[in-house]
Amino acid sequence: MGRLLIIGCGGVAQVAVHKCCQNSGTFEEICIASRTREKCDALKEKLEKVTATKITTAKVNADSAEELTALINAYRPNAVLNVALPYQDLTVMEACLACHVDYIDTANYEPEDTTDPAWRAIYERRCRETGFTAYFDYSWQWAYREKFREAGLTALLGSGFDPGVTSVFTAYALKHYFDEIHYIDILDCNGGDHGYPFATNFNPEINLREVSANGSYWEDGHWVETEPMEIKREFDFPQIGKKDMYLLHHEEIESLAKNIPNVKRIRFFMMFGQSYLTHMKCLENVGMLRTEPISYEGREIVPIQFLKALLPDPASLGPRTVGKTNIGCIFTGVKDGKEKTIYIYNVCDHQECYREVGSQAVSYTTGVPAMIGAALIVDKVWDGDGVFNIEEFDPDPFMDMLNQYGLPWVVEEQVQVVQ
Ligand code: NDP
Repeated sequence: MGRLLIIGCGGVAQVAVHKCCQNSGTFEEICIASRTREKCDALKEKLEKVTATKITTAKVNADSAEELTALINAYRPNAVLNVALPYQDLTVMEACLACHVDYIDTANYEPEDTTDPAWRAIYERRCRETGFTAYFDYSWQWAYREKFREAGLTALLGSGFDPGVTSVFTAYALKHYFDEIHYIDILDCNGGDHGYPFATNFNPEINLREVSANGSYWEDGHWVETEPMEIKREFDFPQIGKKDMYLLHHEEIESLAKNIPNVKRIRFFMMFGQSYLTHMKCLENVGMLRTEPISYEGREIVPIQFLKALLPDPASLGPRTVGKTNIGCIFTGVKDGKEKTIYIYNVCDHQECYREVGSQAVSYTTGVPAMIGAALIVDKVWDGDGVFNIEEFDPDPFMDMLNQYGLPWVVEEQVQVVQ
């Protein structure tokens, strides 16, 4: 039995809160704290009639470690689930250390202002040393390992779907199907249609930054970087059909490359329709994806933040989105001296998610594992001193809870491979 503080009340948080309320055995009490308290209050009002979990709300600016510390000290949770934005990861981790509570998130740190000279100097050195140029990487959060270890606290990084479930699929495959995994292809397909000419399925700023960046993959001990969308493949996704997918850089590649011994190659592909890509290219060409402030009529605005204000709120896509997502991993490796390939995936239906929790499947597939990771930490099923990526823990209890909480998975042993 425990008490969880949830930071953020956007698309992912709303699903995580619903799922915590379905798991009152673990979450006796939750506090939803975000920048806009009205959203937290509206969610509390909707859910408190149907759950045994006691819900409270709070307003917090998660960019301020002091505000977070005051809130955590007042509420005294067992753990903090950070489902605000990657920009807040470090302040939330600092506050957890100050208040001696465990930490869980779904996305690794990236700075809001990528023009900050102090950050830029470290970033440019890291690009040279590692060979990939994404704005996000794990070094900032891994730097907290010693502090969490000394404090006897657990920080669980990346408890969403990808990263998250895909990393747990990898640990599960290694535990039950392989002696060694040599090739991992992570395939993320959203075959849903929301009916808008252009919208993103999660936070537009984070989403557009990610997909307009260079691609990269891990091969033979080093990163290989590509132009954005340079590598394209077609894949026949179970329950969806044939779709184009493109190679992207993705954060779990970085941790899996360290945590899966003898892995030779890790790639990540995401499905995009041509209309999405054309819109994105156009927005990029006219400067709307820029992350540095510009001066407009005497005011500073950040183009990508202005664009976010124009685009549909991802949390509002639920009622209009139809179709399915399919996210999973194809593993090739050896077992008892023989090469084999398996495919583990989940298929999730947008409308079924909407009927259950009022959200589309992209928020659902992230919010469910966020709750599961938090439950395993609060219940001390997963326990360790330090900062951990999710594949470092025993995958079995997590895999069981995916089946129990709405994300059933399939293991196929006769599979198509990606060339
Ligand atoms: P949203 O933009 O929908 O929600 C973000 C929430 O955080 C909003 O409620 C926002 O408040 C709140 N917030 C933002 N800044 C602050 C702040 N300074 N202080 C307090 N609250 C703040 O994003 P999503 O729900 O789509 O995404 C949430 C997280 O999940 C992101 O980190 C994203 O990268 C991650 N994610 C991970 C995935 C995975 O598979 N691992 C997949 C999809 C997302 P307000 O309501 O006022 O705007």
